[in-house]
Amino acid sequence: MITLEVALKLSKAEQEELKEEILTKAKASDLNAYVGFEEHGSGVPIFIKDNIQVDGWSVTSGSKILQGYIAPYNATVIEKLGQNGMMCLGRSNMDEFAMGSTTESSYYGITKNPHDSSRVPGGSSGGAAAAVAGGIAVAALGSDTGGSIRQPAAYCGCVGLKPTYGRVSRYGLAAYASSLDQIGPITQNVTDASILYDAISGHDEKDSTSADMVSEPTFPNLNPQRKLTIAVIDNYISEASSEIQKAYANTVKALESLGHTIVHKNMQNTKYDIATYYIIATAEAATNLARFDGVRYGRRADATNVGDLFIKSRSEGFGEEVKRRILLGNFVLSSGYYDAYYLKAQKVRHLIRDEFNKIFEVADLILSPVAPSVAPKIGAVEDPLEMYKSDMYTIAINLAGLPALSLPVGRDESGMPIGLQFIAKAFDEQTLLDGSLSLERAINYK
Ligand code: GLN
Repeated sequence: MITLEVALKLSKAEQEELKEEILTKAKASDLNAYVGFEEHGSGVPIFIKDNIQVDGWSVTSGSKILQGYIAPYNATVIEKLGQNGMMCLGRSNMDEFAMGSTTESSYYGITKNPHDSSRVPGGSSGGAAAAVAGGIAVAALGSDTGGSIRQPAAYCGCVGLKPTYGRVSRYGLAAYASSLDQIGPITQNVTDASILYDAISGHDEKDSTSADMVSEPTFPNLNPQRKLTIAVIDNYISEASSEIQKAYANTVKALESLGHTIVHKNMQNTKYDIATYYIIATAEAATNLARFDGVRYGRRADATNVGDLFIKSRSEGFGEEVKRRILLGNFVLSSGYYDAYYLKAQKVRHLIRDEFNKIFEVADLILSPVAPSVAPKIGAVEDPLEMYKSDMYTIAINLAGLPALSLPVGRDESGMPIGLQFIAKAFDEQTLLDGSLSLERAINYK
């Protein structure tokens, strides 16, 4: 598939042809990456995750409860795509309300990994990554609350960028965990990630958590020649599969031969990250999802009184994983448990952020795995706790609000892509992209 960088230089007529070509290919594809084929605006077609509002489009967040709901306005990122020569084409499949790591919890069916259709594409932005890697999308917008852009990009062999919290407006993104969510690009390469990031980032007064600062465009300033100090976290890596450890070691060597300086660090055990994330994310989710009551949005159950209406609409509309998280979130917020769980998790969140900042006193970037394994088989991860554990490398970055980019660095013996991520200081997307481009050129992943 043509890259975003090249597609933006095409004439209007050629872009129109590109759109038709993508539509034909996507409709013939059996990946189940697309859950809708709507169009909005003109320019280079970009594929949109099903939790970002596009005026007049259906937006379901992968849930039955939002079946039939039509977005009444555009998310800020959608307006920005239009201002930068891009249009929206098609809805990508996702885990219900972005809760998951495999795209198996979507009410609209399972998406397949383009490298092996018996495997998951990752999640929650699995449709977006599968379409980009599968040659049926130029680029896509996903959302990342605890890894949902980076991990599917790693499982599918494409690039995923989670910007600094506050860099990209969340206005018009269906909230999962508001203090963690960020919209970001899923692309074929690092340059395209930089172009799409530039298009969608910037201060937005419609989002009170949007950072009130100017974001310089990264694309015109991309500099893969910069020599950087890169931290490797020695005690992190042992929990990853041997093939990922091998890819990690090879990447460290490649970085050294590029002239970057490697420093060795340790961080606290990732088990605290998982507990902290799943307390904070579920607490926020329980609050955010309280609005889906069958009255204001989407699907309404048959009921004879208002109490039953709420109960039946929510019981029928939400899937199992979403219900589990609402229960957990309400539990950790309930009186008597709030201090023990929620408040403690907030304190640990600060420690996690401080720990990253300490490393950034001596390093420009941190190199880390994205996931402990390559994409698992569909149906293989049955235990929800096992699923949560697979997020061990991605969620701390959201808790700390940092930017991170996942890019493919190799394949395992069965040919499945292996992705690693760079993590940067808050608001230092430029260094993140510079370092990533330098690595991408050295690796030459095919
Ligand atoms: N897998 C994580 C979760 O289920 C992250 C999901 C995401 O980033 N949206 O919460």
